[in-house]
Amino acid sequence: MDAVTFLLLGVGAGALYVLVAAGLILIHRGSGLINFAHVAIGLCGAYTYWELRELRGVPTWLAVLAGIAVSAGLGAGVHLLVMRPLRNASPLTRLIATLAVMAGLQAAMQLRYADSIYVRVEPMLPTGAVSVLGVTVPGDRLLVFGITVLLIALLWAVYRWTALGRITAAVSENLRAAAALGLSPDVIASLNWALGSAMAALATILIAPISGLTPALATSLIIPALATAVVARFASFPIALATGTLLGIIQSEVTYFVPVPGLDAAIPFVVVAVVLLARSKPIAARGEPVFRFASVGTGGVRARYVLPVTLVALLLIWGVVPIDWVSAVGVQLPVALIVLSVVVVTGYTGQLSLAQFAFAGIGAFVAARLTVLGAPFGVALVLACASTIPLSIVVGLAGARARGVNLAIVTLGLAVTVEAMIFNNPVLTGGFDGLQVGTPTLFGIALGAIATPAVYASFTLLVFVGCAVVVGNLRRGRAGRRLLAVRSNERAAAALGISGLGAKVYAFSLGGVLAACGGVLLTFANPIVTFGDAFTPLRSIQMVQEAVVGGVGWLVGPLLGSTLDPGTVGSKIMEAVAGSPNPAWLTLVGAVILVVALLQAPDGLVPLNTHLLRAGWDRVTRLFGRSPSDRPLAARGVLGGDEGPSRVAPHTLHVTDLKVRFGGTIALDGPSLTVGPGEVVGLIGANGAGKTTLLDGVTGFVPLDRGSVLLDGLELHTLGPARRARAGLGRSFQSLELFDDLTVRENLLSASERRDPWAYLTTLLRPGVPALNAMTRAAVQEFDLGPDLDRRPGELSYARRRLVAIARTVAARPSVLLLDEPAAGIDAAEAHELGELIRRLADVWGMGVLLVEHDVELVMRVCDRILVLENGREIATGTPEQIRMDARVIESYLGGSTSPVEV
Ligand code: ATP
Repeated sequence: MDAVTFLLLGVGAGALYVLVAAGLILIHRGSGLINFAHVAIGLCGAYTYWELRELRGVPTWLAVLAGIAVSAGLGAGVHLLVMRPLRNASPLTRLIATLAVMAGLQAAMQLRYADSIYVRVEPMLPTGAVSVLGVTVPGDRLLVFGITVLLIALLWAVYRWTALGRITAAVSENLRAAAALGLSPDVIASLNWALGSAMAALATILIAPISGLTPALATSLIIPALATAVVARFASFPIALATGTLLGIIQSEVTYFVPVPGLDAAIPFVVVAVVLLARSKPIAARGEPVFRFASVGTGGVRARYVLPVTLVALLLIWGVVPIDWVSAVGVQLPVALIVLSVVVVTGYTGQLSLAQFAFAGIGAFVAARLTVLGAPFGVALVLACASTIPLSIVVGLAGARARGVNLAIVTLGLAVTVEAMIFNNPVLTGGFDGLQVGTPTLFGIALGAIATPAVYASFTLLVFVGCAVVVGNLRRGRAGRRLLAVRSNERAAAALGISGLGAKVYAFSLGGVLAACGGVLLTFANPIVTFGDAFTPLRSIQMVQEAVVGGVGWLVGPLLGSTLDPGTVGSKIMEAVAGSPNPAWLTLVGAVILVVALLQAPDGLVPLNTHLLRAGWDRVTRLFGRSPSDRPLAARGVLGGDEGPSRVAPHTLHVTDLKVRFGGTIALDGPSLTVGPGEVVGLIGANGAGKTTLLDGVTGFVPLDRGSVLLDGLELHTLGPARRARAGLGRSFQSLELFDDLTVRENLLSASERRDPWAYLTTLLRPGVPALNAMTRAAVQEFDLGPDLDRRPGELSYARRRLVAIARTVAARPSVLLLDEPAAGIDAAEAHELGELIRRLADVWGMGVLLVEHDVELVMRVCDRILVLENGREIATGTPEQIRMDARVIESYLGGSTSPVEV
């Protein structure tokens, strides 16, 4: 009988997920955005309702309407003031903006309701017991479900049958097309934001009497709602209704049957993770937009600056700064360390993790438990850092499939789950009493933050500097270039043999270790470690904010960004300026700074200041008659000796009977070809004939329905793109796909460097001096790229970018080179030179070349053999002479007449 009771109770909870998810769907439909601030916006309405009704005596119906109106207005305001100006920014930037809004609103609620962070709310609906299926449950749960079903039916009908639905569909399909039809995407988006936010308000008002009101709902309620909306593909209201209800029921039943603390919170996380992972593809699809994210620094750590600055900081700590400021330093540096982990994961690798503070908490928890068992502090610290690696690997594996926004959802779910299952579990963490860890001691030195704050602050300073040096080494070394290549363009990285999976697993592991180290240092400042409310998901979100404000790809960024954290030097400054305000002010100020930074200085404050300083310095040097960028390239150690190219390993590519299908379209149906060392084979055909698909099939970017790809005897068709590249296949892309965050030199280095996994460890200690190897130097000379080596691709002409793309592929020394329309967009003279270059790659370097090209003159001139495709099928193969005379080729591709083509 109890199972039925829990089922009915679950229906009520599920209904709320449905309402919140419906709002998320509306906003996504109207503006293509997943709004992480959704529940926070709803909560503002719910608090307004509570305040009006219970504190000011306003009639219930009016309070409900006022609450809904506040959220609707907030939603439309957030769209117009924050999201609309960011409409062309990368999805990650837009997502981070919604996180800033979420944190800002949470802080605003804490400030307004400082004395009543958690409030009990009087029921609005009748709660009298109702008998259903022989059991008695509170009537309000069933009423909430009834209201939800009605609302969902109404929304479904409105969006299916009315003009608003049709226009919203048009806007979400194609923003520009909708604008061209005279529909204002802004008005539609604002309307959907307002409506969606109103739904969030209604949901939180309905849930208030059951769960009470607390700003923390903004993070805990968003995950089940996101799980519901994800399953409904952010589109279907009926599926959302079914999923949310089911989720509520399962959670409720699990609470009854499996009394493990926090397990109910884990269920939506598991659902969302499984669905997103099952739906996502292991490699980004062709044509998926590549957005520019915040810039990265060089990772340069100069001993001549770092040593004196560290010494001065130590002197300040020991002699000058008041003791409470020293304690603030001891709080700030561990936080900066956790923010540094965001630099590695998000800044260098482009993976948005909303779980870094959870990793910090896990580290703190393991260290505290080990200390309670008697382990020395040093051992506990090391083991705590290592303990995060298994979970980091799992998150990294998830990141290899669920990209961008999806990964953010998965990691936030993880943070919510870890909090519910570990940090809020009194059996594990000691509840309010916490765990007694005493004073940490290292090499006989007591590091008590309370008794000897200067010692503790100095220790955290040395640890931070050490970790920053290690992360700087990473940025400058081989491993860092791999991470940046993956962040810049995962497809291109895979084509060069760089495994996105390896890079992500590594970045999350290193990030986890740094975060855990920060977590241990942060908590061991107190002799008793308590976990409740210390490692909330909101803290993870704040870490991302602080990283982005400082400069998410910059080593100094965490030092600046962490000033926004409560208890740090930032708090002290605020105290000095404004007395002793509530710490939530700092969070609010941080959120506002982040939004302004995203709008005005998306790269963060450190790069902005660096840029301004550099511009100032340039002006000063110019005053003294020296142009700072006039240094000759040779002086920067660009080029080495003049060795000619050495021949690549000779391998023959055998492609047999390829079949590739995209849904109902058969893009390739049976072509076979062979490319031997020193041979140039042309692949031609009309638009849509299947040429690029053939290259994608051979290099592993699309799955084959049938057929085989062999390099000599080695079967490649079972391997992923990165492993095929490492085996000897190199390819260029029609759309170039250069690493825009890297210089030309770094683009070439990322292609030519050894792919051994050891680089991931050795780089941390010795980044090495990046030197172009003989093959790459030869490629630089061959392609005349010397003058451009220290420029970024975006600074070069299109024709030169094309050359860089080919040089980068060549630098990897592939045995077989697959070129996808290398002559597109360049003039006849450049195409002529390109032809000679391709011939030299085959004749002098010994590469086999498969050339896809629409420039028939070029193909006829350089190729030994040509294969012609039509609708995915091979219609002719032979020498240029034979192809030129082939009646079918002339008819279908070369020009419609049956006379031989003049070339
Ligand atoms: P072009 O010369 O224009 O580059 P192509 O010969 O390279 O054309 P492909 O781009 O390989 O031709 O396309 C072959 C067919 O497969 C086309 O009908 C195309 O629409 C279809 N196609 C390619 N990629 C996809 C995809 N990801 N999903 C669905 N259809 C696809």
